[in-house]
Amino acid sequence: MNRAYNFSPGPCGLPDAVMERARDEFLSYRGCGASAMEISHRGAAFMEIYRRAESLLRELTGAGDDYAVLFLSGGATGAAASVPLNFLPDETRAAAYAITGYWSKRAATEAKKYCKVCIAADSGENYAELPQQFNVPDDAAYLHYADNETIHGVEFPRPPPSHAPLVADMSSNFLSRPLNISDYGLVYAGAQKNLGPAGITIIIARTPLIRPRPQTPLVWDYALQMQQDSMANTPPTFQIYMVMLVLEWLKEQGGAAEMEKRAAEKSRLVYECIDGGFYRGHAAPSCRSRMNIPFFLPDEKLTEEFLDGAEKNGMLGLNGHAVLGGCRASLYNAMPVAGARILAEYMRDFARRRG
Ligand code: PMP
Repeated sequence: MNRAYNFSPGPCGLPDAVMERARDEFLSYRGCGASAMEISHRGAAFMEIYRRAESLLRELTGAGDDYAVLFLSGGATGAAASVPLNFLPDETRAAAYAITGYWSKRAATEAKKYCKVCIAADSGENYAELPQQFNVPDDAAYLHYADNETIHGVEFPRPPPSHAPLVADMSSNFLSRPLNISDYGLVYAGAQKNLGPAGITIIIARTPLIRPRPQTPLVWDYALQMQQDSMANTPPTFQIYMVMLVLEWLKEQGGAAEMEKRAAEKSRLVYECIDGGFYRGHAAPSCRSRMNIPFFLPDEKLTEEFLDGAEKNGMLGLNGHAVLGGCRASLYNAMPVAGARILAEYMRDFARRRG
């Protein structure tokens, strides 16, 4: 069966090798007579999957015993709500939020329900640049920011400066480059981009900062979930299994350092076409995302023609998000360099024919 190059922003393509392994083990996980989705989360076979996923995640991120590693439900949206419910003793304490696009803005709006929110920086209406300054109040419990803005295609080349612990939403660029975990109080990532299927969120949190409130929902109580191996409720077992397979693949490929090299090459191929003239990009070159590249054609008719032609040529998911319109190429870890090359060739050819 032909698999298309999938440029969707998430859920998105997973590595072929991972899908083939999941297919081969689908009916009977490693000889146990049942699928990974059919076995008890408390049984030995699933606990082995869980331990392997956790230890790979620790190895690939460098998170030691001073960090909790949790696999929770609720998406990155749930994670954004859970942060103030676990990192602030009550709603009178302040947390700082940097707004650099749609997702970081939404996280700040959500946090306002649970704590005092100070906007440390806001890069403005069209979110094409990163702020120059971050004003983090002395009493802020943390500074939240989105390491990569999936819609606006803006990525921090390095973490923002902050005296308060950093909380990073890395949903759309997790493990696409090496991570110095000690820079962070907390990192979270919805799985459906670089980690596996939708339905699970990874949270890596520095344990001394974890202080759940009495009203924190049990499913998002980091302390409780840490004590119970993310099993205070029934975890999304099949998703954890898929994440384990993706992490095994990632390690075999050479880990985050190799993903960084590939991401540089893939994004260079596409930005080169944008810089060629016919297409227009969005983010300023100093903060362009290596993962999500929004771009625009001169008009809507050409955009439609471009997207139709892409699909006919085996390239899926290139339509832009409603907030920006136009097109967007998402180049997550599973996208091979060959996929970016084919897209770049198609873009160049289309520009030649229609420019
Ligand atoms: N943060 C970022 C950076 C995202 O890209 C997304 C989803 N695209 C979210 C948060 C929200 O994730 P979810 O839909 O899994 O709740």
